[in-house]
Amino acid sequence: MPTYDYRCQSCSQTFEVRMSMSEYAEGKKPACPRCGSSDVDRAFTSFGVLTASRGGSGGSSFGRSCGHGGFT
Ligand SMILES: [Zn+2]
Repeated sequence: MPTYDYRCQSCSQTFEVRMSMSEYAEGKKPACPRCGSSDVDRAFTSFGVLTASRGGSGGSSFGRSCGHGGFT
């Protein structure tokens, strides 16, 4: 079952919801897990962005430069 990204209009929380494609096609809207509002919109975040942030390569390079600066 695919997951879809939604963004809450009340608190700007973004969250993933797993639902069938038929439910998605019907325009079914889940409730926000943060504030419980059903005033949510579909958010089409790119998978590439999610993958990059989970990779952590940017974080490790940041820590490395930080350690090098302290040593010198
Ligand atoms: Zn919300």
